[in-house]
Amino acid sequence: MRIDVLTLFPEMFEGVFASSILGKAQDRGLVSLSTVNFRNFADNKHNTVDDTPYGGGGGMVLKPEPIFGAVEHVLSNPGRQSDDGIGGGKPRVILMCPQGQPFTQSKAAELAAESHLIMICGHYEGYDERIREFLVTDELSIGDYVLTGGELPAMVVIDAVVRLLPGVLGNEMSAVTDSFSDGLLEYPHYTRPADYRGWSVPDVLLSGHHAEISKWRRLQSLARTLARRPELMERVELSPAERQWLEELKRSENAER
Ligand code: SAM
Repeated sequence: MRIDVLTLFPEMFEGVFASSILGKAQDRGLVSLSTVNFRNFADNKHNTVDDTPYGGGGGMVLKPEPIFGAVEHVLSNPGRQSDDGIGGGKPRVILMCPQGQPFTQSKAAELAAESHLIMICGHYEGYDERIREFLVTDELSIGDYVLTGGELPAMVVIDAVVRLLPGVLGNEMSAVTDSFSDGLLEYPHYTRPADYRGWSVPDVLLSGHHAEISKWRRLQSLARTLARRPELMERVELSPAERQWLEELKRSENAER
């Protein structure tokens, strides 16, 4: 996979791209991460990328020319062009934007199947609307709050997507059992010592009984999701036994109150 990030602050990405799993994924040729400073595509001698809004009002608006120019540069640069391999087709051009579609684990999985992503990081008040209308394929928000720029949101999306690429995580199972992958929050984890300050690890995890451990983990996931994110439960498929177990859990919790 290739990811090109259009930003006015490429230096913000240096540490993130070079460190930990993202750094290793690049070293192993699993992903190529690049930044493009779209100020280099400004069409005026002062390299201005923003201007005041038509109609008045506060804040500056990102001009269309530098963004269109930078995207077209990425598309025309053979070294950067995606091939027709995995995912194939045209690159997704993603605008980071608080008004965009909420970014979720399933969106991360969808993007991980692409071969080329171009991400645009905004700043200032907003973008010239023609960027949204005529250039981008997706608009993504990382949550209902407003940050100063699209760099941190782009890093969040890139990290979530790259860790899903085949071969990136050492233990492939760790992405499969992650929270949200199957619609549930992940079950609790324990490691040595089996007893710490009198707080002991649940017996079942020490039993070596794989079927029992799987069952315990599934029920813990269900209980945790019900307690912390009940709205997620609506889309979870439950066996009759699980449904009954959850009803009993709810009854016993109500009785304790
Ligand atoms: N005036 C804009 C609005 O109300 O929608 C907010 C602009 S914000 C100050 C500047 C830039 O930060 C945005 O263009 C976007 O790239 C980025 N940004 C801020 N919050 C974001 C979020 N929750 N998700 C994704 N990008 C965000």
